[in-house]
Amino acid sequence: NGTPPSSTATSFVVDSPNVTYGDDTINARYTYRTTDISLVDGKYQVEPKETVYDFKTETKVGKVGLMLVGLGGNNGSTVTAGILANRRKLEWDTREGPRKANYYGSVVMSSTVKLGTDSTTGKDVNIPLHDLLPMVHPNDLVVGGWDISGMDLAAAMDRAQVLEPTLKGLVRKEMSAMVPLPSIYYPDFIAANQGDRADNVLSGSNACMEHVEHIRKDIRDFKHANSLDKVIILWTANTERYADLLPGINDTADNLLQAISDHQPEIAPSTIFAVASILEGTPFINGSPQNTFVPGCLQLAERHHAFIGGDDFKSGQTKMKSALVDFMINAGLKLTSIASYNHLGNNDGKKLSSQRQFRSKEISKSTVVDDMVAANRVLYKEGEHPDHAVVIKYMPAVGDNKRALDEYYAEIFLGGHQTISLFNVCEDSLLASPLILDLVLVAELFTRIQWRQPNTDTRNTNPSTSASQEKPEQEWKSFHSVLSVLSYMLKAPLTPPGTPVVNALAKQRSALVNVMKACVGLEPENDMTLEHKLF
Ligand code: NAD
Repeated sequence: NGTPPSSTATSFVVDSPNVTYGDDTINARYTYRTTDISLVDGKYQVEPKETVYDFKTETKVGKVGLMLVGLGGNNGSTVTAGILANRRKLEWDTREGPRKANYYGSVVMSSTVKLGTDSTTGKDVNIPLHDLLPMVHPNDLVVGGWDISGMDLAAAMDRAQVLEPTLKGLVRKEMSAMVPLPSIYYPDFIAANQGDRADNVLSGSNACMEHVEHIRKDIRDFKHANSLDKVIILWTANTERYADLLPGINDTADNLLQAISDHQPEIAPSTIFAVASILEGTPFINGSPQNTFVPGCLQLAERHHAFIGGDDFKSGQTKMKSALVDFMINAGLKLTSIASYNHLGNNDGKKLSSQRQFRSKEISKSTVVDDMVAANRVLYKEGEHPDHAVVIKYMPAVGDNKRALDEYYAEIFLGGHQTISLFNVCEDSLLASPLILDLVLVAELFTRIQWRQPNTDTRNTNPSTSASQEKPEQEWKSFHSVLSVLSYMLKAPLTPPGTPVVNALAKQRSALVNVMKACVGLEPENDMTLEHKLF
Protein backbone atom coordinates (compact mmCIF):
# COMPACT_ATOMS: atom_id res chain seq x y z
CA ASN A 1 0.00 0.00 0.00
CA GLY A 2 1.25 3.57 -0.56
CA THR A 3 4.04 4.08 -3.05
CA PRO A 4 3.57 2.43 -6.43
CA PRO A 5 6.59 0.71 -7.99
CA SER A 6 8.14 2.81 -10.75
CA SER A 7 6.85 0.40 -13.40
CA THR A 8 3.30 1.71 -12.89
CA ALA A 9 4.40 4.85 -14.73
CA THR A 10 1.48 6.93 -13.43
CA SER A 11 2.40 10.40 -12.27
CA PHE A 12 0.29 10.20 -9.12
CA VAL A 13 -0.45 7.95 -6.15
CA VAL A 14 -3.97 7.46 -4.85
CA ASP A 15 -4.01 7.49 -1.08
CA SER A 16 -7.18 5.56 -0.27
CA PRO A 17 -8.12 2.37 1.57
CA ASN A 18 -9.81 1.31 -1.68
CA VAL A 19 -6.65 1.39 -3.76
CA THR A 20 -3.58 -0.77 -3.46
CA TYR A 21 -0.46 -0.93 -5.56
CA GLY A 22 0.98 -4.40 -6.02
CA ASP A 23 4.28 -5.28 -7.68
CA ASP A 24 2.61 -5.53 -11.06
CA THR A 25 -1.01 -4.48 -10.53
CA ILE A 26 -3.11 -1.55 -9.39
CA ASN A 27 -6.16 -2.79 -7.46
CA ALA A 28 -9.15 -0.59 -6.87
CA ARG A 29 -12.46 -1.17 -5.18
CA TYR A 30 -15.03 1.08 -6.75
CA THR A 31 -18.62 1.86 -5.88
CA TYR A 32 -20.61 2.39 -9.06
CA ARG A 33 -23.62 4.60 -8.37
CA THR A 34 -26.60 4.46 -10.72
CA THR A 35 -30.33 5.14 -10.57
CA ASP A 36 -32.93 2.41 -11.01
CA ILE A 37 -36.33 3.38 -12.39
CA SER A 38 -39.60 1.53 -12.48
CA LEU A 39 -43.01 2.75 -13.59
CA VAL A 40 -45.57 2.28 -10.80
CA ASP A 41 -49.16 3.46 -11.40
CA GLY A 42 -47.98 5.76 -14.16
CA LYS A 43 -45.32 7.36 -11.99
CA TYR A 44 -41.57 6.82 -12.00
CA GLN A 45 -40.28 5.11 -8.90
CA VAL A 46 -36.65 6.18 -8.58
CA GLU A 47 -34.10 4.33 -6.52
CA PRO A 48 -30.42 5.14 -6.15
CA LYS A 49 -28.35 1.97 -6.51
CA GLU A 50 -24.80 1.04 -5.60
CA THR A 51 -22.77 -1.80 -7.10
CA VAL A 52 -19.29 -2.58 -5.85
CA TYR A 53 -16.62 -3.67 -8.32
CA ASP A 54 -12.98 -4.55 -7.94
CA PHE A 55 -10.73 -3.55 -10.82
CA LYS A 56 -7.26 -4.94 -11.33
CA THR A 57 -4.92 -3.33 -13.87
CA GLU A 58 -1.73 -5.06 -14.86
CA THR A 59 0.95 -2.38 -14.88
CA LYS A 60 3.51 -4.11 -17.08
CA VAL A 61 2.71 -2.94 -20.59
CA GLY A 62 5.22 -5.09 -22.44
CA LYS A 63 6.25 -4.78 -26.08
CA VAL A 64 3.29 -4.13 -28.34
CA GLY A 65 2.95 -4.62 -32.09
CA LEU A 66 0.44 -2.93 -34.37
CA MET A 67 -0.51 -4.72 -37.58
CA LEU A 68 -2.48 -2.59 -40.01
CA VAL A 69 -4.60 -4.06 -42.76
CA GLY A 70 -4.15 -1.43 -45.48
CA LEU A 71 -0.62 -0.52 -44.33
CA GLY A 72 0.21 1.05 -47.70
CA GLY A 73 -2.82 3.34 -47.77
CA ASN A 74 -3.06 7.01 -46.84
CA ASN A 75 -3.74 6.26 -43.19
CA GLY A 76 -1.32 3.34 -42.99
CA SER A 77 1.62 5.25 -44.43
CA THR A 78 0.78 8.44 -42.51
CA VAL A 79 0.47 6.79 -39.10
CA THR A 80 3.72 4.88 -39.68
CA ALA A 81 5.64 7.99 -40.71
CA GLY A 82 4.07 9.84 -37.77
CA ILE A 83 5.36 7.29 -35.28
CA LEU A 84 8.87 7.41 -36.80
CA ALA A 85 8.83 11.22 -36.69
CA ASN A 86 7.81 11.24 -33.04
CA ARG A 87 10.18 8.47 -32.05
CA ARG A 88 13.07 10.42 -33.55
CA LYS A 89 11.72 13.80 -32.31
CA LEU A 90 12.02 15.10 -35.86
CA GLU A 91 11.77 18.73 -36.92
CA TRP A 92 11.28 19.78 -40.54
CA ASP A 93 10.88 22.92 -42.53
CA THR A 94 7.62 23.99 -44.14
CA ARG A 95 6.72 27.17 -46.01
CA GLU A 96 5.12 28.32 -42.74
CA GLY A 97 8.28 27.70 -40.73
CA PRO A 98 9.70 24.73 -38.81
CA ARG A 99 7.37 22.02 -37.53
CA LYS A 100 7.98 19.39 -34.82
CA ALA A 101 6.58 15.91 -34.50
CA ASN A 102 3.56 15.73 -32.18
CA TYR A 103 0.51 13.64 -31.45
CA TYR A 104 -2.08 16.39 -31.84
CA GLY A 105 -5.52 14.94 -32.48
CA SER A 106 -4.93 11.96 -30.21
CA VAL A 107 -7.31 12.14 -27.27
CA VAL A 108 -5.02 9.80 -25.33
CA MET A 109 -1.74 11.60 -26.04
CA SER A 110 -2.79 15.24 -26.36
CA SER A 111 -5.84 15.80 -24.18
CA THR A 112 -5.93 16.15 -20.43
CA VAL A 113 -8.32 15.11 -17.68
CA LYS A 114 -9.02 16.74 -14.36
CA LEU A 115 -7.41 14.66 -11.64
CA GLY A 116 -8.74 16.82 -8.81
CA THR A 117 -8.30 20.15 -7.06
CA ASP A 118 -5.11 21.46 -5.49
CA SER A 119 -5.85 21.59 -1.75
CA THR A 120 -3.85 24.79 -1.20
CA THR A 121 -4.72 26.87 -4.26
CA GLY A 122 -8.17 25.45 -5.03
CA LYS A 123 -7.16 25.18 -8.69
CA ASP A 124 -7.85 22.21 -10.94
CA VAL A 125 -5.01 19.77 -11.50
CA ASN A 126 -5.10 18.31 -15.01
CA ILE A 127 -2.96 15.49 -16.33
CA PRO A 128 -2.61 13.90 -19.77
CA LEU A 129 -5.21 11.18 -20.26
CA HIS A 130 -2.28 8.91 -21.08
CA ASP A 131 -1.06 9.22 -17.47
CA LEU A 132 -4.25 8.01 -15.77
CA LEU A 133 -3.15 4.39 -16.10
CA PRO A 134 0.01 2.78 -17.47
CA MET A 135 -0.43 2.75 -21.25
CA VAL A 136 1.79 1.90 -24.16
CA HIS A 137 3.45 4.93 -25.73
CA PRO A 138 2.85 5.12 -29.50
CA ASN A 139 6.59 5.67 -30.06
CA ASP A 140 7.13 2.14 -28.74
CA LEU A 141 4.71 0.42 -31.13
CA VAL A 142 6.27 -1.94 -33.66
CA VAL A 143 4.34 -1.41 -36.89
CA GLY A 144 3.72 -3.89 -39.67
CA GLY A 145 0.81 -5.23 -41.70
CA TRP A 146 -0.71 -6.14 -44.99
CA ASP A 147 -1.75 -4.45 -48.23
CA ILE A 148 -3.00 -5.69 -51.56
CA SER A 149 -0.63 -3.11 -53.05
CA GLY A 150 2.99 -4.18 -52.74
CA MET A 151 4.51 -0.68 -52.73
CA ASP A 152 7.06 -0.04 -50.01
CA LEU A 153 5.97 2.58 -47.50
CA ALA A 154 8.21 5.33 -48.88
CA ALA A 155 6.53 5.03 -52.27
CA ALA A 156 3.16 4.65 -50.54
CA MET A 157 3.58 7.94 -48.67
CA ASP A 158 4.43 9.62 -51.96
CA ARG A 159 1.29 8.15 -53.49
CA ALA A 160 -0.74 9.35 -50.51
CA GLN A 161 0.32 13.01 -50.97
CA VAL A 162 -0.25 13.80 -47.31
CA LEU A 163 3.12 14.70 -45.79
CA GLU A 164 5.47 17.61 -46.43
CA PRO A 165 8.40 16.70 -48.73
CA THR A 166 10.87 17.75 -46.01
CA LEU A 167 9.33 15.32 -43.51
CA LYS A 168 9.17 12.56 -46.11
CA GLY A 169 12.88 13.05 -46.77
CA LEU A 170 13.68 12.47 -43.11
CA VAL A 171 11.79 9.17 -42.83
CA ARG A 172 12.25 7.87 -46.37
CA LYS A 173 15.05 5.43 -45.60
CA GLU A 174 13.17 3.64 -42.82
CA MET A 175 9.89 3.75 -44.72
CA SER A 176 11.42 2.23 -47.86
CA ALA A 177 12.53 -0.79 -45.84
CA MET A 178 8.93 -1.53 -44.89
CA VAL A 179 6.94 -3.58 -47.39
CA PRO A 180 3.39 -4.78 -46.65
CA LEU A 181 2.66 -8.49 -46.43
CA PRO A 182 0.49 -9.89 -49.24
CA SER A 183 -3.20 -9.73 -48.41
CA ILE A 184 -6.55 -11.23 -49.24
CA TYR A 185 -8.32 -9.78 -52.26
CA TYR A 186 -11.94 -10.66 -53.02
CA PRO A 187 -12.72 -8.16 -55.83
CA ASP A 188 -16.46 -8.37 -55.29
CA PHE A 189 -16.14 -6.60 -51.93
CA ILE A 190 -14.21 -3.48 -52.85
CA ALA A 191 -14.70 -0.90 -55.58
CA ALA A 192 -13.80 -2.11 -59.06
CA ASN A 193 -11.56 0.95 -59.48
CA GLN A 194 -9.12 -0.54 -56.94
CA GLY A 195 -8.15 -3.48 -59.15
CA ASP A 196 -5.09 -1.76 -60.62
CA ARG A 197 -3.32 -1.55 -57.23
CA ALA A 198 -3.94 -5.19 -56.27
CA ASP A 199 -0.48 -6.61 -57.06
CA ASN A 200 0.33 -8.16 -53.67
CA VAL A 201 -2.36 -10.75 -53.09
CA LEU A 202 -2.70 -14.30 -51.84
CA SER A 203 -4.12 -16.73 -54.36
CA GLY A 204 -7.85 -17.39 -54.17
CA SER A 205 -10.69 -14.89 -54.48
CA ASN A 206 -13.22 -16.46 -52.11
CA ALA A 207 -13.20 -17.16 -48.39
CA CYS A 208 -11.24 -20.22 -47.31
CA MET A 209 -9.63 -21.60 -44.18
CA GLU A 210 -6.21 -21.37 -45.86
CA HIS A 211 -6.56 -17.59 -45.79
CA VAL A 212 -7.51 -17.61 -42.11
CA GLU A 213 -4.54 -19.83 -41.32
CA HIS A 214 -2.21 -17.72 -43.46
CA ILE A 215 -3.16 -14.53 -41.60
CA ARG A 216 -2.86 -16.30 -38.24
CA LYS A 217 0.66 -17.38 -39.18
CA ASP A 218 1.53 -13.82 -40.28
CA ILE A 219 0.46 -12.59 -36.83
CA ARG A 220 2.48 -15.24 -35.01
CA ASP A 221 5.55 -14.66 -37.21
CA PHE A 222 5.39 -10.90 -36.65
CA LYS A 223 5.10 -11.44 -32.92
CA HIS A 224 8.01 -13.82 -32.86
CA ALA A 225 10.28 -11.82 -35.20
CA ASN A 226 9.87 -8.69 -33.07
CA SER A 227 9.77 -10.40 -29.64
CA LEU A 228 6.35 -8.90 -28.93
CA ASP A 229 4.18 -9.56 -25.90
CA LYS A 230 1.03 -8.75 -27.82
CA VAL A 231 -0.26 -7.52 -31.14
CA ILE A 232 -3.28 -5.37 -32.03
CA ILE A 233 -4.79 -5.69 -35.53
CA LEU A 234 -6.58 -2.75 -37.11
CA TRP A 235 -8.43 -2.58 -40.42
CA THR A 236 -7.66 0.69 -42.22
CA ALA A 237 -8.03 -0.92 -45.63
CA ASN A 238 -10.70 -0.15 -48.19
CA THR A 239 -14.32 0.29 -47.37
CA GLU A 240 -16.04 -2.91 -48.41
CA ARG A 241 -19.63 -3.35 -49.49
CA TYR A 242 -21.98 -4.72 -46.85
CA ALA A 243 -22.10 -8.49 -46.59
CA ASP A 244 -25.59 -9.98 -46.79
CA LEU A 245 -26.70 -11.51 -43.50
CA LEU A 246 -27.56 -15.06 -44.45
CA PRO A 247 -29.05 -17.65 -42.11
CA GLY A 248 -26.84 -20.73 -42.02
CA ILE A 249 -23.85 -18.77 -43.38
CA ASN A 250 -22.82 -15.93 -41.09
CA ASP A 251 -25.46 -16.00 -38.36
CA THR A 252 -23.56 -18.11 -35.82
CA ALA A 253 -19.90 -18.74 -35.07
CA ASP A 254 -20.08 -22.36 -36.19
CA ASN A 255 -21.92 -21.50 -39.39
CA LEU A 256 -19.39 -18.79 -40.18
CA LEU A 257 -16.42 -21.14 -39.73
CA GLN A 258 -18.16 -23.75 -41.86
CA ALA A 259 -19.00 -21.17 -44.53
CA ILE A 260 -15.34 -20.12 -44.66
CA SER A 261 -14.30 -23.77 -45.10
CA ASP A 262 -16.95 -24.07 -47.84
CA HIS A 263 -15.56 -21.05 -49.78
CA GLN A 264 -18.83 -19.21 -49.38
CA PRO A 265 -18.74 -16.03 -51.51
CA GLU A 266 -20.56 -13.79 -49.01
CA ILE A 267 -17.65 -13.63 -46.51
CA ALA A 268 -15.67 -10.36 -46.70
CA PRO A 269 -11.87 -10.13 -46.42
CA SER A 270 -12.28 -7.98 -43.31
CA THR A 271 -14.27 -10.78 -41.67
CA ILE A 272 -11.48 -13.25 -42.53
CA PHE A 273 -9.01 -10.92 -40.79
CA ALA A 274 -11.33 -10.59 -37.80
CA VAL A 275 -11.76 -14.36 -37.53
CA ALA A 276 -7.98 -14.92 -37.76
CA SER A 277 -7.36 -12.29 -35.06
CA ILE A 278 -10.03 -13.73 -32.79
CA LEU A 279 -8.61 -17.23 -33.14
CA GLU A 280 -5.15 -15.83 -32.30
CA GLY A 281 -6.58 -13.97 -29.29
CA THR A 282 -5.41 -10.61 -30.66
CA PRO A 283 -7.74 -7.61 -30.49
CA PHE A 284 -9.19 -6.61 -33.87
CA ILE A 285 -10.52 -3.12 -34.62
CA ASN A 286 -12.42 -2.16 -37.75
CA GLY A 287 -11.82 1.42 -38.91
CA SER A 288 -14.07 1.20 -41.97
CA PRO A 289 -17.85 1.29 -42.17
CA GLN A 290 -18.72 -2.17 -43.50
CA ASN A 291 -20.37 -4.88 -41.37
CA THR A 292 -17.22 -6.93 -40.76
CA PHE A 293 -18.68 -8.14 -37.48
CA VAL A 294 -21.53 -10.23 -38.82
CA PRO A 295 -23.39 -11.99 -35.97
CA GLY A 296 -21.31 -15.17 -36.36
CA CYS A 297 -18.08 -13.20 -36.06
CA LEU A 298 -19.30 -11.42 -32.95
CA GLN A 299 -20.31 -14.72 -31.40
CA LEU A 300 -16.89 -16.17 -32.22
CA ALA A 301 -15.21 -13.24 -30.42
CA GLU A 302 -17.38 -13.82 -27.35
CA ARG A 303 -16.62 -17.52 -27.41
CA HIS A 304 -12.87 -16.88 -27.48
CA HIS A 305 -13.00 -13.88 -25.10
CA ALA A 306 -11.19 -11.91 -27.78
CA PHE A 307 -11.58 -8.16 -28.05
CA ILE A 308 -13.18 -6.54 -31.07
CA GLY A 309 -14.04 -2.89 -31.74
CA GLY A 310 -15.55 -0.85 -34.56
CA ASP A 311 -16.82 0.54 -36.83
CA ASP A 312 -15.47 3.42 -38.95
CA PHE A 313 -13.11 6.10 -37.63
CA LYS A 314 -14.94 9.18 -36.40
CA SER A 315 -12.52 11.85 -37.59
CA GLY A 316 -13.97 15.02 -39.06
CA GLN A 317 -17.51 15.75 -40.13
CA THR A 318 -19.16 13.09 -37.98
CA LYS A 319 -17.15 14.08 -34.91
CA MET A 320 -18.44 17.66 -35.31
CA LYS A 321 -21.93 16.28 -35.83
CA SER A 322 -21.90 14.21 -32.65
CA ALA A 323 -20.78 17.27 -30.68
CA LEU A 324 -23.01 19.85 -32.36
CA VAL A 325 -26.22 17.83 -32.40
CA ASP A 326 -25.68 16.94 -28.75
CA PHE A 327 -25.37 20.66 -27.99
CA MET A 328 -28.44 21.67 -30.04
CA ILE A 329 -30.81 19.05 -28.70
CA ASN A 330 -29.55 19.50 -25.14
CA ALA A 331 -30.09 23.23 -25.55
CA GLY A 332 -33.74 22.50 -26.39
CA LEU A 333 -33.43 23.47 -30.05
CA LYS A 334 -35.41 21.26 -32.39
CA LEU A 335 -33.01 20.17 -35.09
CA THR A 336 -35.14 19.36 -38.14
CA SER A 337 -32.59 18.59 -40.84
CA ILE A 338 -28.92 17.87 -41.41
CA ALA A 339 -27.49 18.05 -44.91
CA SER A 340 -23.90 16.81 -45.20
CA TYR A 341 -21.82 17.13 -48.35
CA ASN A 342 -18.26 15.91 -48.73
CA HIS A 343 -15.81 16.02 -51.53
CA LEU A 344 -12.36 14.51 -51.41
CA GLY A 345 -9.70 13.49 -53.89
CA ASN A 346 -7.79 10.70 -52.17
CA ASN A 347 -8.12 6.98 -52.83
CA ASP A 348 -10.82 6.77 -50.15
CA GLY A 349 -12.89 9.23 -52.20
CA LYS A 350 -12.22 7.28 -55.36
CA LYS A 351 -13.54 4.04 -53.96
CA LEU A 352 -16.53 5.70 -52.32
CA SER A 353 -17.62 6.84 -55.78
CA SER A 354 -18.69 3.22 -56.19
CA GLN A 355 -22.32 2.84 -55.09
CA ARG A 356 -22.12 -0.34 -53.01
CA GLN A 357 -19.18 0.94 -50.95
CA PHE A 358 -20.78 4.38 -50.60
CA ARG A 359 -23.85 2.64 -49.17
CA SER A 360 -21.69 1.25 -46.30
CA LYS A 361 -20.49 4.79 -45.53
CA GLU A 362 -23.97 6.25 -45.84
CA ILE A 363 -25.36 3.78 -43.31
CA SER A 364 -22.48 4.41 -40.91
CA LYS A 365 -22.85 8.19 -41.17
CA SER A 366 -26.62 8.34 -40.91
CA THR A 367 -27.25 6.76 -37.51
CA VAL A 368 -25.02 9.09 -35.55
CA VAL A 369 -27.73 11.28 -34.05
CA ASP A 370 -30.26 8.58 -33.17
CA ASP A 371 -29.53 8.33 -29.44
CA MET A 372 -29.63 12.11 -28.94
CA VAL A 373 -32.97 12.42 -30.75
CA ALA A 374 -34.51 9.44 -28.94
CA ALA A 375 -33.50 10.91 -25.55
CA ASN A 376 -35.65 14.01 -26.01
CA ARG A 377 -39.40 13.32 -26.09
CA VAL A 378 -40.12 17.01 -25.49
CA LEU A 379 -38.84 17.89 -28.96
CA TYR A 380 -39.43 14.64 -30.87
CA LYS A 381 -42.42 12.31 -30.86
CA GLU A 382 -41.83 8.54 -30.84
CA GLY A 383 -40.45 7.64 -34.29
CA GLU A 384 -39.86 11.29 -35.31
CA HIS A 385 -36.41 12.06 -36.63
CA PRO A 386 -34.65 15.00 -38.29
CA ASP A 387 -34.16 14.64 -42.06
CA HIS A 388 -30.59 13.58 -42.71
CA ALA A 389 -28.85 13.37 -46.09
CA VAL A 390 -25.23 12.44 -46.75
CA VAL A 391 -23.51 13.06 -50.10
CA ILE A 392 -19.90 12.13 -50.94
CA LYS A 393 -18.23 13.08 -54.22
CA TYR A 394 -14.82 12.20 -55.61
CA MET A 395 -12.90 15.33 -56.60
CA PRO A 396 -9.30 14.35 -57.47
CA ALA A 397 -7.92 17.91 -57.38
CA VAL A 398 -8.36 18.39 -53.63
CA GLY A 399 -6.42 15.20 -52.79
CA ASP A 400 -6.39 14.30 -49.09
CA ASN A 401 -7.71 17.79 -48.21
CA LYS A 402 -11.25 16.70 -47.62
CA ARG A 403 -14.04 19.26 -47.68
CA ALA A 404 -17.13 18.75 -45.57
CA LEU A 405 -20.06 21.15 -45.81
CA ASP A 406 -22.91 20.76 -43.35
CA GLU A 407 -26.14 22.61 -42.85
CA TYR A 408 -27.99 22.19 -39.57
CA TYR A 409 -31.52 23.55 -39.66
CA ALA A 410 -33.46 23.88 -36.42
CA GLU A 411 -36.83 25.10 -35.22
CA ILE A 412 -36.54 27.57 -32.38
CA PHE A 413 -38.91 29.55 -30.15
CA LEU A 414 -42.39 30.26 -31.55
CA GLY A 415 -41.77 28.82 -35.01
CA GLY A 416 -38.53 30.67 -35.73
CA HIS A 417 -35.51 29.02 -37.36
CA GLN A 418 -31.80 28.74 -36.82
CA THR A 419 -29.44 27.64 -39.58
CA ILE A 420 -25.86 26.69 -38.85
CA SER A 421 -23.55 26.16 -41.82
CA LEU A 422 -20.17 24.56 -41.34
CA PHE A 423 -17.30 24.30 -43.78
CA ASN A 424 -14.67 21.89 -42.54
CA VAL A 425 -11.39 21.47 -44.45
CA CYS A 426 -8.67 19.15 -43.24
CA GLU A 427 -6.15 16.55 -44.31
CA ASP A 428 -8.25 13.46 -43.79
CA SER A 429 -5.38 11.14 -42.95
CA LEU A 430 -3.86 13.57 -40.46
CA LEU A 431 -7.12 13.41 -38.51
CA ALA A 432 -7.52 9.65 -38.84
CA SER A 433 -3.95 8.64 -37.91
CA PRO A 434 -4.09 9.82 -34.27
CA LEU A 435 -7.45 8.03 -33.94
CA ILE A 436 -5.79 4.82 -35.06
CA LEU A 437 -3.30 5.28 -32.23
CA ASP A 438 -6.04 6.05 -29.70
CA LEU A 439 -7.92 2.90 -30.68
CA VAL A 440 -4.79 0.81 -30.31
CA LEU A 441 -3.66 2.37 -27.03
CA VAL A 442 -7.06 2.00 -25.39
CA ALA A 443 -7.64 -1.52 -26.73
CA GLU A 444 -4.22 -2.57 -25.42
CA LEU A 445 -5.01 -1.09 -22.01
CA PHE A 446 -8.21 -3.11 -21.76
CA THR A 447 -6.30 -6.34 -22.38
CA ARG A 448 -4.71 -5.64 -18.96
CA ILE A 449 -7.82 -4.70 -16.96
CA GLN A 450 -9.94 -7.26 -15.13
CA TRP A 451 -12.93 -6.90 -12.86
CA ARG A 452 -14.99 -8.86 -10.38
CA GLN A 453 -17.75 -8.25 -7.92
CA PRO A 454 -16.79 -8.89 -4.34
CA ASN A 455 -19.09 -11.34 -2.61
CA THR A 456 -19.56 -9.41 0.58
CA ASP A 457 -20.59 -5.90 1.33
CA THR A 458 -17.04 -4.79 1.92
CA ARG A 459 -17.39 -1.31 0.54
CA ASN A 460 -14.79 1.18 1.67
CA THR A 461 -12.40 -1.52 2.79
CA ASN A 462 -9.06 -2.44 1.40
CA PRO A 463 -9.52 -4.87 -1.53
CA SER A 464 -6.26 -6.65 -0.80
CA THR A 465 -7.15 -7.46 2.81
CA SER A 466 -10.92 -7.58 2.83
CA ALA A 467 -11.54 -10.87 1.07
CA SER A 468 -14.71 -12.43 2.34
CA GLN A 469 -14.27 -14.82 5.19
CA GLU A 470 -17.40 -16.78 4.25
CA LYS A 471 -17.19 -17.20 0.48
CA PRO A 472 -14.32 -17.05 -2.00
CA GLU A 473 -14.28 -13.99 -4.23
CA GLN A 474 -15.70 -14.26 -7.76
CA GLU A 475 -13.30 -15.05 -10.59
CA TRP A 476 -11.56 -12.12 -12.28
CA LYS A 477 -13.04 -11.41 -15.72
CA SER A 478 -12.16 -9.24 -18.68
CA PHE A 479 -14.47 -6.59 -20.09
CA HIS A 480 -16.99 -7.82 -22.68
CA SER A 481 -15.45 -8.83 -26.01
CA VAL A 482 -17.05 -5.85 -27.75
CA LEU A 483 -15.00 -2.90 -26.53
CA SER A 484 -17.64 -0.17 -26.57
CA VAL A 485 -15.25 2.01 -24.58
CA LEU A 486 -13.65 2.77 -27.98
CA SER A 487 -16.84 4.56 -29.11
CA TYR A 488 -15.33 8.07 -28.95
CA MET A 489 -13.11 7.22 -31.92
CA LEU A 490 -15.81 5.49 -33.98
CA LYS A 491 -18.65 6.65 -36.19
CA ALA A 492 -20.92 3.64 -35.76
CA PRO A 493 -19.86 2.24 -32.39
CA LEU A 494 -20.24 -1.47 -31.92
CA THR A 495 -21.67 -2.39 -28.53
CA PRO A 496 -22.31 -5.73 -26.83
CA PRO A 497 -25.51 -7.27 -28.27
CA GLY A 498 -28.63 -5.75 -26.75
CA THR A 499 -26.85 -2.77 -25.17
CA PRO A 500 -27.46 0.85 -26.18
CA VAL A 501 -25.25 2.72 -28.63
CA VAL A 502 -23.98 6.10 -27.46
CA ASN A 503 -23.02 8.53 -30.21
CA ALA A 504 -22.89 11.80 -28.24
CA LEU A 505 -19.23 12.81 -28.20
CA ALA A 506 -19.04 14.19 -24.66
CA LYS A 507 -20.71 11.10 -23.19
CA GLN A 508 -18.34 8.84 -25.09
CA ARG A 509 -15.33 10.69 -23.72
CA SER A 510 -16.73 10.65 -20.18
CA ALA A 511 -17.27 6.90 -20.41
CA LEU A 512 -13.66 6.33 -21.39
CA VAL A 513 -12.19 8.71 -18.82
CA ASN A 514 -14.44 7.58 -15.97
CA VAL A 515 -13.87 3.86 -16.51
CA MET A 516 -10.14 4.60 -16.43
CA LYS A 517 -10.60 6.66 -13.27
CA ALA A 518 -12.57 3.86 -11.62
CA CYS A 519 -9.55 1.60 -12.17
CA VAL A 520 -7.56 3.85 -9.83
CA GLY A 521 -10.49 4.21 -7.44
CA LEU A 522 -11.40 7.77 -8.42
CA GLU A 523 -14.88 9.23 -8.78
CA PRO A 524 -16.16 10.45 -12.15
CA GLU A 525 -15.77 14.19 -12.63
CA ASN A 526 -19.18 15.56 -11.63
CA ASP A 527 -18.46 19.21 -12.50
CA MET A 528 -20.47 20.40 -9.49
CA THR A 529 -17.50 22.33 -7.98
CA LEU A 530 -19.46 22.75 -4.74
CA GLU A 531 -16.21 23.80 -3.05
CA HIS A 532 -16.49 27.04 -5.04
CA LYS A 533 -20.19 27.51 -4.41
CA LEU A 534 -20.83 26.57 -0.78
CA PHE A 535 -18.67 28.56 1.59
P1 NAD B 1 -6.62 4.25 -48.78
O1 NAD B 1 -7.44 3.81 -49.93
O2 NAD B 1 -5.56 5.25 -49.01
O3 NAD B 1 -5.95 2.99 -48.08
C1 NAD B 1 -6.52 1.73 -48.02
C2 NAD B 1 -5.46 0.70 -48.32
O4 NAD B 1 -6.02 -0.59 -48.15
C3 NAD B 1 -4.95 0.76 -49.76
O5 NAD B 1 -3.55 0.87 -49.76
C4 NAD B 1 -5.42 -0.55 -50.37
O6 NAD B 1 -4.52 -1.04 -51.31
C5 NAD B 1 -5.52 -1.44 -49.15
N1 NAD B 1 -6.42 -2.59 -49.23
C6 NAD B 1 -7.62 -2.73 -49.83
N2 NAD B 1 -8.14 -3.94 -49.61
C7 NAD B 1 -7.26 -4.60 -48.84
C8 NAD B 1 -7.21 -5.89 -48.27
N3 NAD B 1 -8.20 -6.75 -48.46
N4 NAD B 1 -6.16 -6.22 -47.51
C9 NAD B 1 -5.13 -5.35 -47.30
N5 NAD B 1 -5.11 -4.11 -47.84
C10 NAD B 1 -6.15 -3.75 -48.58
O7 NAD B 1 -7.67 4.76 -47.69
P2 NAD B 1 -7.41 5.59 -46.37
O8 NAD B 1 -7.65 7.03 -46.65
O9 NAD B 1 -6.12 5.20 -45.75
O10 NAD B 1 -8.63 5.09 -45.46
C11 NAD B 1 -8.66 3.75 -45.02
C12 NAD B 1 -10.02 3.37 -44.53
O11 NAD B 1 -10.34 4.12 -43.40
C13 NAD B 1 -11.15 3.58 -45.55
O12 NAD B 1 -11.98 2.45 -45.63
C14 NAD B 1 -11.94 4.69 -44.99
O13 NAD B 1 -13.33 4.57 -45.23
C15 NAD B 1 -11.69 4.54 -43.51
N6 NAD B 1 -11.87 5.83 -42.86
C16 NAD B 1 -10.98 6.84 -43.08
C17 NAD B 1 -11.18 8.06 -42.45
C18 NAD B 1 -10.19 9.18 -42.64
O14 NAD B 1 -9.19 9.00 -43.28
N7 NAD B 1 -10.42 10.33 -42.06
C19 NAD B 1 -12.30 8.25 -41.64
C20 NAD B 1 -13.17 7.19 -41.46
C21 NAD B 1 -12.94 5.99 -42.07
